[in-house]
Amino acid sequence: MYRNFSIVPNIIFGRGSFNQLDDILQPKRSGNDSYMVFVLDDVFKGKTLEGRIPLRGKDFLLHVNVDDEPKTKYIDQLVARIRAYAPVLPDGIIGIGGGATMDIAKAVSLLLTNPGSAADYQGWDLIKIPAVYHVGIPTLSGTGAEVSRTTVLTGPEKKLGINSDFTLFNQMVLDPELIADAPRDQWFYTGMDCYIHDVESLQGTYLNEFSKAYGEKSIDLCRQVFLGDHPDRDDKLMMASYFGGMSIAYSQVGACHALSYGLSFVLGTHHGIGCCITFDYLEDIYPDGVREFRQMMQKHGISLPRNLTRDLDAAAMEKMTTVALGLVPLWENCLGKDWQKIMTRERVLELYRKM
Ligand code: NAD
Ligand code: ZN
Repeated sequence: MYRNFSIVPNIIFGRGSFNQLDDILQPKRSGNDSYMVFVLDDVFKGKTLEGRIPLRGKDFLLHVNVDDEPKTKYIDQLVARIRAYAPVLPDGIIGIGGGATMDIAKAVSLLLTNPGSAADYQGWDLIKIPAVYHVGIPTLSGTGAEVSRTTVLTGPEKKLGINSDFTLFNQMVLDPELIADAPRDQWFYTGMDCYIHDVESLQGTYLNEFSKAYGEKSIDLCRQVFLGDHPDRDDKLMMASYFGGMSIAYSQVGACHALSYGLSFVLGTHHGIGCCITFDYLEDIYPDGVREFRQMMQKHGISLPRNLTRDLDAAAMEKMTTVALGLVPLWENCLGKDWQKIMTRERVLELYRKM
């Protein structure tokens, strides 16, 4: 069976395209009592970008904090705040920030129309009711959250996305100017998320020509961004992220992501840096990718934290390993149907001990 999936139907790309947001939203506004919710990463509180948001009438500016990666409980709280703000649904949810903020915007738009807690929908195609219209506007590039059909959430029991066609944004605004001022280390980690998506997709057993076409272009752009010196590198990275996301839409990520999920679940390590940490130990699986990744780190003067698992007890190490090994499609994509013979529990534990 071939997968039949939706993609984001409306895209605007270009420097300064954020200025067209008001025009984009106008036809979606339903009347005088209607309102939009702008979900803004609180790192932009009081900054120029906040002042450029086209607030009108009863619009609600909702600051969100992403010091911790989004939890299902946080989504439930934000949904309750919007419900308390007005008795009617908003006309739209506009997420402005990195992958975490975009994921929050996606999840909130789904939970405004679907009853219960965000934790009830962690999995595949559990959402049955279309979301409120929602728009993604990245201020960091690499995760591919702007194009993906998932919103990655940590719940009481698992770290797993709400994967559905309804999760996809209705519109994305790709303005390379918005990523220009991101802190350099964060810019690198999030950019490497994209590079690793490409390596894992291109080297995976699920690869087909669709994924390959997007993955090859994306990795080429990553090389230009992280090994070259281009004045338009923000434009390039934004497109790399988009293409990387499209590549994994029809394939899958692999060992690095599986291990980083375990690390994140137990230690709260953020996605971009977590992927960098785990990738650095996967030379056996991705020799060319890891070599090139180290060149990129060197060029940008990045040094990764070490000995993260040194003080963990046996129970925490076991939990981490269980989370990682639970991501079956990722391992199968990486190592094939017989992956369990290759990636044993002991081998995963050994990798984690080194980190
Ligand atoms: P992020 O959204 O977690 O942000 C990282 C840090 O950078 C935060 O402190 C944030 O406030 C700050 N920041 C963001 N933009 C900035 C800017 N322009 N200037 C200054 N600071 C800025 O980072 P990310 O790497 O983009 O996203 C990681 C998140 O994305 C994780 O929660 C991960 O689970 C999720 N993710 C989702 C998908 C998906 O398909 N939905 C894919 C990969 C990762
Ligand atoms: Zn990733």
